[in-house]
Amino acid sequence: MSRTDRLEPGQAERLLREREKDWRKALRRELPIQKRMAIERQPMPEQEPGVRVRNFKEVNLGYTLELARVEARRCLDCGQPGCVAGCPVAIDIPTFIKYIEAGELEKALEKIRETNGLPAICGRVCPQEVQCEKDCNLVRAGKAPVAIGHLERFVADYLCLREGTGAGISASPEVTRRPEKIAVVGSGPGGLTAAADLARLGYRVTVFEALHLPGGVLAYGIPEFRLPREILQSEINFIKALGVEIKTNFIVGRTASLEDLRQDGYRAFFLGTGAGLPSFMNIPGENLLGVYSANEYLTRVNLMKGFRFPEFDTPVPRARRAAVIGGGNVAMDAVRTALRLGAEQATIFYRRSRAEMPARVEEVKHAEEEGIVFNFLTVPVRFLGNDRGQLQGMVLQRLALGEPDSSGRPRPVPIPGSEFEVEVDLAVVAIGQSPNPLLIKQLPGLKLGRWGNVEVDSQTMATSLPGIYAGGDAVRGGATVILAMGDGRRAARAIDEFLRRE
Ligand SMILES: Cc1cc2nc3c(=O)[nH]c(=O)nc-3n(C[C@H](O)[C@H](O)[C@H](O)COP(=O)(O)OP(=O)(O)OC[C@H]3O[C@@H](n4cnc5c(N)ncnc54)[C@H](O)[C@@H]3O)c2cc1C
Ligand code: SF4
Repeated sequence: MSRTDRLEPGQAERLLREREKDWRKALRRELPIQKRMAIERQPMPEQEPGVRVRNFKEVNLGYTLELARVEARRCLDCGQPGCVAGCPVAIDIPTFIKYIEAGELEKALEKIRETNGLPAICGRVCPQEVQCEKDCNLVRAGKAPVAIGHLERFVADYLCLREGTGAGISASPEVTRRPEKIAVVGSGPGGLTAAADLARLGYRVTVFEALHLPGGVLAYGIPEFRLPREILQSEINFIKALGVEIKTNFIVGRTASLEDLRQDGYRAFFLGTGAGLPSFMNIPGENLLGVYSANEYLTRVNLMKGFRFPEFDTPVPRARRAAVIGGGNVAMDAVRTALRLGAEQATIFYRRSRAEMPARVEEVKHAEEEGIVFNFLTVPVRFLGNDRGQLQGMVLQRLALGEPDSSGRPRPVPIPGSEFEVEVDLAVVAIGQSPNPLLIKQLPGLKLGRWGNVEVDSQTMATSLPGIYAGGDAVRGGATVILAMGDGRRAARAIDEFLRRE
């Protein structure tokens, strides 16, 4: 029996909270608010643009311990922290930051991991500027927000990689083992989060992944210069250490059906199959050699290590003039990849203006620093090829912004007679993707939405079929890592309730 078991129910938590209050009060006394507010936001050290465009190493180099502690001092430990309300998984942000200020890094990581199983990833790829940092109370005081994402990344990296403490920090919760087996389909952030939470609740969880490596988009979509694979691996190791089994090269719906898995004893399912089906523009010339979906292009480079061809088997097109169509994170990743693969000119063609670009602000800034050309309010109307079927150019049309459409953003309206031609030998189409249909189309009675997305109860992530839950991009279309994780978390809670009811 552990020491906490001998205390009255809730007593341990109360004692810990009291102790927490004391050291936090001491920190406040040590450095008053005015002094905290006078500290400037600490910039993230980066590789120089001229150097990084010639390699695939991570652009951001991460805070040092000194930088992190200075940045942590900027946090006011607010009574009503806007940051927490802005975080889709409600991380206790002030507490983890104050732990960094106090030099208690393990406690900081434990605090984050209470609600977020992938901190090194979220610290790198979450759009903090429209979430926690947007709602940081410092913004209302006219200051730059606390660099919450940089701090989250720092603490995860520092402990998992640099100190070599491995991934297992809080991986051995004393839980009552439960006999039920649960199948998670897809190993993206949604599936991994559902799996981790269910394992923590004591269930026997298996993740089935179609590809040869786990991680979903984190493995095949987001390039190494934003998310090094050792970081992804370290986070996945943490989830495995919780007891989750991951079976790769296993396509549910081909290798085995959901019904086969049910026969095999799986009692509940989470579908985290993502949105890997690329959208095309359906314009003439789209099947010329040299026109790729972003999905294929990035998969060749990231998952198949095409950038290290011929050391690895998969060739990847190396263009002189690369065009990427789209304005989201996927487009930014594709265009910066083309540049690193040697393009003399790499250009974004986006049909709205800069203000409407959905990409993370940091990615756009980095792309600009690297020399990416942005061509706003333009859309290709046809691709041009030579007699060998190879892409040679594109005809584009100029657009103007009109009335808002259903997304609330101004609708791009073609300007008659504004067509113009550009020379390109690679075009990557990054205009969106829809849910992977393979499995979800096989399930009779599974209610799908207009875009082929799985329909769910937004509180429980329950689908129309009993015992089957879904989340992430399979439900939302192309969304974000943290939203997929939030879905996985809600589904895990609901699956637990479902199995207990049964
Ligand atoms: C290039 C790119 C860059 C992005 N950048 C960002 C970013 O900076 N920040 C951000 O927040 N979001 C970003 N996103 C979006 C984010 O990655 C996704 O919203 C998120 O990964 C969705 O997670 P998921 O778990 O729903 O599915 P996914 O990550 O798509 O994973 C689904 C997994 O399911 C597997 N699968 C599918 N069907 C089956 C089956 N039948 N059997 C077994 N396995 C199956 C797939 O192989 C895949 O591995 C980006 C997306 C892309 C493509
Ligand atoms: S709102 Fe900003 S200053 Fe306040 S606790 Fe959150 S991060 Fe710290």
